[in-house]
Amino acid sequence: MEHGDEVVPALNRCIALALARRVQIYASRDWHPLGHVSFRENGGPWPPHCVQDSEGAQFHPDLELPGSVVKVTKGVRFDHDQNSVFDETGLAYELRRRGILRLWIGGLAEDVCVRASVLDGIESGFAVLVLEDATRPITPEGGAEARLEMQRAGAQFATAA
Ligand SMILES: [Zn+2]
Repeated sequence: MEHGDEVVPALNRCIALALARRVQIYASRDWHPLGHVSFRENGGPWPPHCVQDSEGAQFHPDLELPGSVVKVTKGVRFDHDQNSVFDETGLAYELRRRGILRLWIGGLAEDVCVRASVLDGIESGFAVLVLEDATRPITPEGGAEARLEMQRAGAQFATAA
């Protein structure tokens, strides 16, 4: 997506801060089967993207993910899309098991997967902070709406800078 790259330096700053404080990092990715239900060819809203094993499904090459990162794969279901990182991934179970209470969330896109993940995270009982300079919406209007919605749900906002 346009300007998507801009989140990488901000995410890298957060990764460095998290590593210095021994905070666990999770990296989620869409990992769609060919002809996924979310693609336009099947009546979904999106052009084909993040197809399994394709270049588009890779993490950004400049993203400095450490060896200790835990990857969360979503968008693999045949019957529905998974915008939220909590949608049938077992992530809430994993975070609780590790005693994690607070989440700092960034990435793409603010008005789709970030929004859904933040709302689900709050719903699951986590304190959620949105890294506002480490995320970008698909449209400005969608971003404004998503921020309002996340704020109303109880999300905090801060910059990585
Ligand atoms: Zn997707």
